[in-house]
Amino acid sequence: MDARESLRRYLEQRRELGESELVLDTLSVEDALKLLGAANVLPREEAPVSTDWRAALRAAGGVPEARPSMPSMPAVRDVPAVVAAGPADAPRVPLGDIPAGIAMGRSNRAPGDQFIYELATLEDIAAVVAKCTRCDLYRTALNPVPGTGNPNADFMVVGEAPGADEDQQGVPFIGKAGQLLTKILAAINLSRDDVFIANVLKHRPPGNRNPLPDEVTVCSPYLVRQIELVKPKVILALGTFAAQTLLETKITIGKLRGQVHRYHGVPLIVTYHPAALLRNPAWKRPTWEDVQLADRILRQ
Ligand code: SF4
Repeated sequence: MDARESLRRYLEQRRELGESELVLDTLSVEDALKLLGAANVLPREEAPVSTDWRAALRAAGGVPEARPSMPSMPAVRDVPAVVAAGPADAPRVPLGDIPAGIAMGRSNRAPGDQFIYELATLEDIAAVVAKCTRCDLYRTALNPVPGTGNPNADFMVVGEAPGADEDQQGVPFIGKAGQLLTKILAAINLSRDDVFIANVLKHRPPGNRNPLPDEVTVCSPYLVRQIELVKPKVILALGTFAAQTLLETKITIGKLRGQVHRYHGVPLIVTYHPAALLRNPAWKRPTWEDVQLADRILRQ
């Protein structure tokens, strides 16, 4: 792959992650487009450059193609070299070279949870969640949000709890954060229909407060059973709370990243919550690295 193609793909990735600005340093927009192969770029007054990167690339002669399965990225500090290195067609490095993290999985299941572990389908879980009174959250929530997506997904996304939009519609990860998640998934060639998306808690905590330990204890068997039924190859945990809850740790998300944890035997990668990315764009880059790591595991 030549440098121009690498640059074009890199710009596409940044756009897909929601970035709308690019610092060109001493380059003008026209110069940058020429570097990308814009032999026919018109003067600015004749053809204003679009703020949409995809449109700008198309106007510059770049062909908006289907996304590669693992686009190249420049090497990045603070991430194991195996994650950051190599173009899409580079030989995959064995996962054994990626640091192993925490292994979590309850061997002893509370007798009172047994009925959950005997639920046969995701629909059965959703039906039980809809009538669940195991904690008080059902009293204040508008709708249950059991989870959505492909019941046979290889890629599972787990967040903390429904927010206001999710509570209203009964669907996880909608609204702005959900839209960003959709873009992140698209960057590794996954649609929302390809994955299964769920939260640790199935009802919204009032005012989006943090879930209480007792709520997590009584609700998490639903998630565990969902994982057992979906049988994903990899789980992507979004945000500090989801990561710390699933892994039963207080280790910061910054230290949990870049490792392959195990949750009930399934490889689990930790990254920032899309809502946090909306507040802090600096986390988009590490998030993209984490998603690439999850994608690498998925395609092993
Ligand atoms: S949050 Fe979980 S445990 Fe609490 S009522 Fe809803 S489904 Fe039941």
